[in-house]
Amino acid sequence: MPRKDPDAQRIYTAEYRISHHAEILARKKRYRETHREELRLKAQKYYIENHDARLQADTLRREQNREEIRRRGREKSAKYREEHRVEYNIKFAKYRIEHHEAIRLRNATYDYREKRRQYREANREAIRERDKKYHEEHPEQSHFHSLLRRARKSQAPGNGVTIKQWRFVKTLYKDCCVYCGKKSKRLTMDHVVALACGGAHDITNIVPACRSCNSKKHVGPPPIPTQFVLPLAM
Ligand SMILES: [Zn+2]
Repeated sequence: MPRKDPDAQRIYTAEYRISHHAEILARKKRYRETHREELRLKAQKYYIENHDARLQADTLRREQNREEIRRRGREKSAKYREEHRVEYNIKFAKYRIEHHEAIRLRNATYDYREKRRQYREANREAIRERDKKYHEEHPEQSHFHSLLRRARKSQAPGNGVTIKQWRFVKTLYKDCCVYCGKKSKRLTMDHVVALACGGAHDITNIVPACRSCNSKKHVGPPPIPTQFVLPLAM
């Protein structure tokens, strides 16, 4: 029975739905069974008529949830790989053997440098952020790698320096700047003969220096005579 007050009507409807829940379900089921063909055609018609809108909605939904979808996909495939590890390993081993020549060719013609350049260009901001974060969290490694790059760029002679050797050199100088003697946790690697002057990137040519002394020295000779220790142990 319809009521005048819309709120009272809503309450009545809700109560009716709850108290007649089973009955309503049965009625709906009956309807579906007796109108099967009609419903199928209706659904089909709806599906066809809303094809474009549906595709658009799907695309939109995917775009809005891109990160979540990606994360879920990664989780799913990681789980699958974990569960099928042995199968996977066999499958890939077989693949590598069967396609040996094709893989070799692909690797030989793949332009890693160009791909890397493209990636860098497309993700410039993200890379900058990542590097900044890395530098803040790992100042020692960050400084070390930047010197490694500089040494490579200037094609410096020498055997290179490992981070272990660099730490050893710092310990050798008791974590003090070799020029002013100040103790510092943020010592920079100074090349006694600068890389720009053909100095080697080598344990025999590096000393710890504080920022201030290192920048004062730049590419010139050391500001005061260096008590240069040659770590023969390494
Ligand atoms: Zn200093």
